[in-house]
Amino acid sequence: MKPIYEPKGKAKEYGDLAINIYTGCPHRCFYCFAPSVLRKGREQFHSCIEPRKDIVAEVKKQLEKEQIKGKLIHLCFTCDPYPTGYDTTPTREIIKAIKESGNNVQILTKGDGTRDFDLLDENDWYGITLDGIKTETERDRLNSLAEAHRRGIKTWVSFEPVTNEREFFIDLHCVQFVVDKVKIGKLNYYHSDINWKEFGEKAEALCKSLGIEYYIKDSLREEMGV
Ligand code: SF4
Repeated sequence: MKPIYEPKGKAKEYGDLAINIYTGCPHRCFYCFAPSVLRKGREQFHSCIEPRKDIVAEVKKQLEKEQIKGKLIHLCFTCDPYPTGYDTTPTREIIKAIKESGNNVQILTKGDGTRDFDLLDENDWYGITLDGIKTETERDRLNSLAEAHRRGIKTWVSFEPVTNEREFFIDLHCVQFVVDKVKIGKLNYYHSDINWKEFGEKAEALCKSLGIEYYIKDSLREEMGV
């Protein structure tokens, strides 16, 4: 087992290396691609969540054996590093191992990663997903981003996929003072009424006017034709 891997395809836009810690995710995003990547039923993926077998020991072993150093390692693609309602000690242990081996983490969550902020520094990235879907935890997510920023941790927001144009623009204004970078991506494989070309142009113009560093994902960039 080599839990640290190089993402391919669209996932490569997120980072050079990644680790998937859990077998599933309880957050139930309707657009989640992970069940099909893992060839699992949706219900099974969203309800059977546990750390992958020996994940912490295997990460430590690979870091040591391959002498991985100076990398930014993304957590996670096919799960959430902070699955709400589950024990996230494995995530904490893995962050410790990554940091102690001379690497940094790039976290992306719809949960709450504040418990591990003491492990992070100005070379780590803490990110939240804001997809425009209203949930009870959204306010906490925004607060955690602000807290990470206050502590000097780099912060980012994944606006991918954008499911609601209006919510996107509200959220972008909300995070403007506490975010170091945003990534913006369209909803793929599902119908949307959003005119992606117009949306992309408006989103890009707003990022520029607010002075926010941004990255437009390739599939949205293609729609924009630039
Ligand atoms: S947070 Fe990520 S892994 Fe979890 S259900 Fe949503 S898209 Fe899937």
